[in-house]
Amino acid sequence: MPADPPLLDLAVIGGGASGFFTAIQYAEMAPGKQVGIFEKGSHYLQKVRISGGGRCNVTHACFDPRDLSRHYPRGSRELLAAFHRWQPTDTIEWFQRHGVTLKAEPDGRMFPITDSSETIIACFLEQARKHHISLHPKHSLTEISQLEDGSFFLNFDGSAPSVRSRRVCIATGSLKESPLLKQLLGLGQSIEPLVPSLFAFNVSDRRISDLAGVSHPRVVVRCEASKESQSGPLLITHRGFSGPAILRLSAWEARALAAENHHFAFVIDWLPDMKPDALHTIFAENRRLHGAKLVRNSPIPPISKRLWERIVACSGIAEDMTWGQVSKTCTQALLDGLKNARFEVTGKTTNKDEFVTCGGIVRKTIDFRSMESRVTPGLYFTGECIDIDGITGGFNFQAAWTTAHIAATAMAQAE
Ligand SMILES: Cc1cc2nc3c(=O)[nH]c(=O)nc-3n(C[C@H](O)[C@H](O)[C@H](O)COP(=O)(O)OP(=O)(O)OC[C@H]3O[C@@H](n4cnc5c(N)ncnc54)[C@H](O)[C@@H]3O)c2cc1C
Repeated sequence: MPADPPLLDLAVIGGGASGFFTAIQYAEMAPGKQVGIFEKGSHYLQKVRISGGGRCNVTHACFDPRDLSRHYPRGSRELLAAFHRWQPTDTIEWFQRHGVTLKAEPDGRMFPITDSSETIIACFLEQARKHHISLHPKHSLTEISQLEDGSFFLNFDGSAPSVRSRRVCIATGSLKESPLLKQLLGLGQSIEPLVPSLFAFNVSDRRISDLAGVSHPRVVVRCEASKESQSGPLLITHRGFSGPAILRLSAWEARALAAENHHFAFVIDWLPDMKPDALHTIFAENRRLHGAKLVRNSPIPPISKRLWERIVACSGIAEDMTWGQVSKTCTQALLDGLKNARFEVTGKTTNKDEFVTCGGIVRKTIDFRSMESRVTPGLYFTGECIDIDGITGGFNFQAAWTTAHIAATAMAQAE
């Protein structure tokens, strides 16, 4: 151990969204304190940079804490109370006060008006500079221990000098494959097993082959083994299915699907707003009024022509079959193909690594009034390293801002 490692008031481990927000808010509330951000990479805020396709979906225009908390497959109960303290309104105001205006898109996602994540990065770097927060790139924390006086001793990979800090905030994002896991277990923390969330489904099926790029405005999807369904737009990709409905299903079923090694069956209702009876009526009318018309030429909106042709062909309806020739068996097959289309999934794909980890620091080992560990006083957790994750739409960043605000406030008030 070096003789005199520098003593900080707060060492934030991880220069990502929640790490910067914690450090800046703490520095704002407790001016003059020594704060350092230690980042394993050469660059900060890398996920912010690539987030939202380079636009950074900062938060979601959902201002009722209860509604908001429903967008989190894990952590909704704890976040409900937390959102009463810091929710999207506060995020919007904070960014506005710091020179960044956010705008809402029709689906509720909120982005900087510049449509560039660089705006958020520039804001954070400017605030860090303003508050004299020391930034330490290429500092990968490998060891953490608590000394008798309650402060922490931190060792980093390679030749980076050790540091001592009165308080430590772990803001490392996903703990998957992290060398810190062992260290945190050593400090008495428990970890909820880590599995991916928010992924696309790999499906090889003739019903969708060559349809990559075809989208559909609203489906209802559910895993065959589950009664819970999710809805939203769907996209057919080169590898199978993606889009909000699929990502939502992957998030809510993350644990069950990981247990199946991401090999499972799921069911699509292509026309969730149409009951089977209504479809039977449409089929009967087509037979009566358009008996000579080819079935494959009469898609039911909003199903696109290409998708309709494939569903029709896979229902056993020949290319030259007219409505007048459709048998009862074919009608039933068509109805099944529209309302109950079963697909086998043979793995997952992450969109440009755009996934979130389900699992992490066990929530009940954290006091959500302060984000302080219940087992190691002085140790705080913010962001994705906790067993909290949301669906897409800005909810994951909102959880990062909220947990960071609570941690910063508690640490500042304890001074
Ligand atoms: C491609 C992509 C796009 C996304 N888009 C959105 C979006 O638009 N909206 C949204 O809400 N969510 C989005 N997410 C999710 C969101 O990015 C995360 O939920 C959020 O970044 C979590 O913030 P965090 O600070 O907890 O972790 P991170 O942002 O992951 O930051 C953690 C930092 O800690 C560093 N670190 C890790 N281990 C150590 C160590 N041992 N020592 C030192 N440093 C360490 C990492 O290098 C990293 O810089 C996206 C995720 C991805 C991958």
